[in-house]
Amino acid sequence: MAAGKSGPTRILVAGGGYVGMYTALRLQSKLRRREASVTVVDPQPHMTYQPFLPEAAAGSIEPRHVVVPLRKVLRKCNVLTGRITKIEHGRKTAIVESPDGHTEEHSYDILVVALGSVARTLPIPGLAEQGIAARTIGEAIYLRNHVLSRLDAAATTNDEELRRRLLTFLVIGGGFAGTETLAELEDMARYATRYYPNLEPKDMRWVLVDAANRILPEVSPKMGVYTVEQLMKRGIEVYLETLVKSMEGGHVVLSDGTEFDADTIIWTAGVKANPVLANTDLPLDQRGRLRCTASLQVEGMPDAWAAGDCTAVPDLSATEEDPNATCVPNAQHAVRQANQLAKNLIATLRGRKAKDYYHRYAGSVAGLGLYKGVADVYGIKLKGYPAWAMHRAYHVSRMPTFNRKFRIMLDWALALLFRREVISLGQINEPKREFERVAKGA
Ligand SMILES: Cc1cc2nc3c(=O)[nH]c(=O)nc-3n(C[C@H](O)[C@H](O)[C@H](O)COP(=O)(O)OP(=O)(O)OC[C@H]3O[C@@H](n4cnc5c(N)ncnc54)[C@H](O)[C@@H]3O)c2cc1C
Repeated sequence: MAAGKSGPTRILVAGGGYVGMYTALRLQSKLRRREASVTVVDPQPHMTYQPFLPEAAAGSIEPRHVVVPLRKVLRKCNVLTGRITKIEHGRKTAIVESPDGHTEEHSYDILVVALGSVARTLPIPGLAEQGIAARTIGEAIYLRNHVLSRLDAAATTNDEELRRRLLTFLVIGGGFAGTETLAELEDMARYATRYYPNLEPKDMRWVLVDAANRILPEVSPKMGVYTVEQLMKRGIEVYLETLVKSMEGGHVVLSDGTEFDADTIIWTAGVKANPVLANTDLPLDQRGRLRCTASLQVEGMPDAWAAGDCTAVPDLSATEEDPNATCVPNAQHAVRQANQLAKNLIATLRGRKAKDYYHRYAGSVAGLGLYKGVADVYGIKLKGYPAWAMHRAYHVSRMPTFNRKFRIMLDWALALLFRREVISLGQINEPKREFERVAKGA
């Protein structure tokens, strides 16, 4: 422990996402002056509110409004923009790689691991070259411009085969991220076709593939079936209990023998704990997650705390049925664990005992495009407009800072007044291309 040190205890928070930012926010408001210093390290200068990424991709919310600037909200913390490449808790040091590529060692007294998860990929031929995830603000911006630019390209060609490929959009993985991203993008593209005299919604092919026998495992099976029905009514093809075998050169082959060409392939088939954890001396389970106690301490590691997607925290609300149950990776747990973690960290600093984390899953809400949604919260099941309104109300209430909440509501109000904006800024995806062309005299 830090006891006996002359200066304030140095707390290092690895990761500035949900867990990292909320933990740091609570620490900065509850710690006494000179009791401890808090340093937050993240490769991005912002926290990303991931549940709003599908709406950012669809242009219903300005992308800048779904991120929270860390330096602005963590005024009493030291924010470092860099990637942690190694943690040696035995020596209480972390190696941080700066955006310019140089690395530095940072010492600490107490560590908080909040490194989240990454996309869980499979060795499918063509996936690395053709696929893109939908987990970051960069990917959301890319997807919006990419999908709209496919419409522009399709409306400009007379080549039927090319046109079909440009207008085929595949999403693999029917969890929150995949279903919402597909539904929001399809809704946007459907709306956009009104501005293309030679394109109709039926010219587009939207496909959702999932290995399981249902989608949205976060809601009840009945609501999952309802969601599939709603997507199919919109003409979206849903393949369940189906695997993607290959996608080389954009030629997609499914396990049931279906084949087609797609110019857009979005991979949202699950997450795994941040692989950088393998570069630490902290204990991991067989799935690469940090082994933690119910009080959010890293097992057998004094002065190390952790929470969120990168951890295996016992789910005390479910251990009666399954003694090995662990909390699932979602924002509901991440936010609550962060608050408990900060409380426990301060309690132990002051010589008190840490408390166990307990939360019974409250249910979920999902947006499926403008005025469409599905909700299953505390047993209350809603569909269509009420579910969509609940999705927006819930997430805007959860969005950190009044500033962000207000900006998002303003975005929604403007979209109601002036209709949605569906212009592709496709150049953003290749900003140097025009200059290179001019510089080469082409
Ligand atoms: C599109 C989408 C929609 C979602 N919708 C919902 C929803 O509706 N409801 C819900 O409950 N959950 C939802 N989730 C899940 C939810 O967002 C996550 O469970 C939550 O973000 C987990 O919080 P975390 O702090 O563990 O990880 P994150 O919030 O991902 O934070 C991890 C942080 O670590 C940083 N980091 C990564 N590597 C390093 C490194 N080497 N060094 C330093 N920092 C690093 C990252 O930049 C990031 O800021 C959604 C997720 C996605 C992708």
